[in-house]
Amino acid sequence: MMENKINWNKAEFLSSYGKYPQIPEKSQVPEIAFSGRSNVGKSSLINKLLNRKSLARVSSKPGKTVTINFYSVDSIFFVDLPGYGYAKTAKSERARFGELTERYITSSGKSTPSGKSAPSGKSAPSRIALLVQLIDFRHPPTFDDLQMLNFLVEREIPFVIALTKADKLKKKQREERRTGLSEELATLKKEDINIIEFSAETGEGVEELRRIIAEIAEEICHA
Ligand code: GDP
Repeated sequence: MMENKINWNKAEFLSSYGKYPQIPEKSQVPEIAFSGRSNVGKSSLINKLLNRKSLARVSSKPGKTVTINFYSVDSIFFVDLPGYGYAKTAKSERARFGELTERYITSSGKSTPSGKSAPSGKSAPSRIALLVQLIDFRHPPTFDDLQMLNFLVEREIPFVIALTKADKLKKKQREERRTGLSEELATLKKEDINIIEFSAETGEGVEELRRIIAEIAEEICHA
């Protein structure tokens, strides 16, 4: 029911940011971030959620410049984080990815006079309302995927996992990957990770993911 409260068709591209200081300060609008390695199907997933063909670019050119892209989706923001793990990405671009993504993910959106976090040592909660971490359903999480997941757990950033390209697996392969994944994710030491099996091809998982996003957005707007 909740999902009807977001008009998924009311979406537009806002802006791309290549440097952290360019990113606007957090507003009242809940930010839903999307993260995954290059080619995992992130653009396709975003486009599918928004009933669009090519609002988010579907990558014909992997390793494109590192930017964080903001979309306005009715009453929320979608934040498309740079894809990682593309082998040919220049070292300098990788460093920029780390800086840009890490700073955005960990920023609370509240600026303190010194620009540093509170002296209590406990960092303020992230500005991100929910991060959708994409992992290719066909393969075990990559080293970079696990690193990102560990980071999310450590920083207590709310996230769900979307397993992409579900249409490419047969029933038996799916079962094998589900079993494999529960072991592979055990190292995270986090219970109740929400995992959504998704296909931009068939639309599987679209409603479930929309419902989760809408619920979080609703909670924040009425907090
Ligand atoms: P990104 O780099 O993470 O944004 O990935 P893209 O969305 O550009 O997708 C990478 C490739 O995977 C493209 O050729 C897509 O057509 C394909 N792809 C993405 N999602 C799916 C899916 O759900 N099913 C299938 N069969 N292919 C997909």
